[in-house]
Amino acid sequence: MQNTKINEKAKYCLNCKIKPCSQKGCPLGNNIPMFIGQVKEENLEKAYEILSETTVLPGICGRICPHKKQCQGSCVRGIKDRPVAIGELEAYVFDNIIEEKDSLLKCYNKEMKEKKNNKKIAIIGGGPAGLTAAAFLAKNGFRVTIYEKYNYLGGLLVHGIPDFRLSKKIVKKTVEKILNLGIEVKYNHELQKNITISELEKKYDAIFLAIGANKSSKMEIEGENLEGVIRRK
Ligand SMILES: Cc1cc2nc3c(=O)[nH]c(=O)nc-3n(C[C@H](O)[C@H](O)[C@H](O)COP(=O)(O)OP(=O)(O)OC[C@H]3O[C@@H](n4cnc5c(N)ncnc54)[C@H](O)[C@@H]3O)c2cc1C
Ligand code: SF4
Repeated sequence: MQNTKINEKAKYCLNCKIKPCSQKGCPLGNNIPMFIGQVKEENLEKAYEILSETTVLPGICGRICPHKKQCQGSCVRGIKDRPVAIGELEAYVFDNIIEEKDSLLKCYNKEMKEKKNNKKIAIIGGGPAGLTAAAFLAKNGFRVTIYEKYNYLGGLLVHGIPDFRLSKKIVKKTVEKILNLGIEVKYNHELQKNITISELEKKYDAIFLAIGANKSSKMEIEGENLEGVIRRK
């Protein structure tokens, strides 16, 4: 039996035909009314399957996406009242299958088999961009290897965002499901240090650079490097 508060939150969605939450508000184009429709029916597995068509990070996006600006900011309900709690519902769907290692594989398996090919892709960097590209390439039948400079995946989700905002367990379980698609990982491999593009070009059909943009910008003012000085936006 599903949490009654979640039921109420799902039933609050109007299932709008034009779905501005998805079409205008969600950069991924998640089919929001359709997955919420399955939450209403208490069919959380199907809700996860619908989300997995466009995202492999529902547990993460459900928690840290800027919903107020994006999906919830475009929700019709929000014109006169509060918007539908889209982020919370998305996270709830993920949390329901969190311990199931094969959940993503189950959604992609058929397509992976149908589209299986011998093309090999190298992805440099295992943050959200690299992980997402890896999963969708695997879904489309490619053989994927991620080269990551650290001994863990997740990028800024792990070493940038604090635990109270996004728990490491959510990232770990998300990564586990993605790797379970048969993706190979070379940890402690840093581009330009122990691997080069020309070496990779010889072994792979394509290379995707997903190394992030983790160098912070400077204000260029005196004293900005002094201890205790922090920049607020
Ligand atoms: C403090 C903080 C809070 C944030 N909060 C939010 C939030 O609330 N909501 C939100 O949506 N976004 C938030 N972000 C932004 C979000 O984390 C980034 O947009 C996202 O992580 C970018 O993903 P990425 O995969 O492009 O890069 P990254 O996450 O930076 O991943 C890059 C990966 O490449 C690896 N790599 C780098 N160089 C090499 C190399 N030479 N060779 C091999 N591997 C390499 C890195 O180790 C890393 O694993 C926050 C960021 C920070 C720092
Ligand atoms: S705009 Fe709001 S009410 Fe309409 S389908 Fe999207 S989430 Fe539901």
